[in-house]
Amino acid sequence: MHNTYKCKSSFNLSHIEPHTHIYGPGTRFSIWLQGCTLGCKGCWNTQMWPHRENTFVHREKLYQQILSTPEISGVTFLGGEPLEQADNTLWLIKRIKEKTDLTSVVYTGFEQSELEAKGYWPTLYENSDLIISGRYQQSLRNTYLRLRGSTNQKLIYPLDSRLMKESDGGNEIEIVIDSLGSITTLGYPD
Ligand code: SF4
Repeated sequence: MHNTYKCKSSFNLSHIEPHTHIYGPGTRFSIWLQGCTLGCKGCWNTQMWPHRENTFVHREKLYQQILSTPEISGVTFLGGEPLEQADNTLWLIKRIKEKTDLTSVVYTGFEQSELEAKGYWPTLYENSDLIISGRYQQSLRNTYLRLRGSTNQKLIYPLDSRLMKESDGGNEIEIVIDSLGSITTLGYPD
């Protein structure tokens, strides 16, 4: 899975969990990308801020890994900031939409207007099923939100989304224990 080299078609990843249940509907292959320059005060993922070299995976290889993962209903992109690796993120979302029945959920700290200015919005909107956008604002934190950290963040279901709008209430966390017994806590407990 780990590459020791990078090219422009490689993701720089922080972490992957192939089976998560709290980042959108169903069982989801979740991908945390390394690197975010947005610097939200109170961010829980500061170790994912530096765009340092972490784990490089060619986008085609990651796509094949997703295809070979059983019992998932979709893919969720988090970070870090997925749209700071826009070429590869948009390529993968488009590939998933065109070639599979899997849905895509994308967390981004950027606002829609910023993504429009960067030219990313049309591809993101046309190929995602749910976009959760906007900076995390500590003063607007609400621990009763299931899919968002703060109330300013927007849940955007594109017109041809394959996901049903669902309630955003109820904080959830998930504890993953791998085959070696190491424990990872996902989500943000109060
Ligand atoms: S956009 Fe997300 S990862 Fe980036 S600083 Fe804000 S909360 Fe943290």
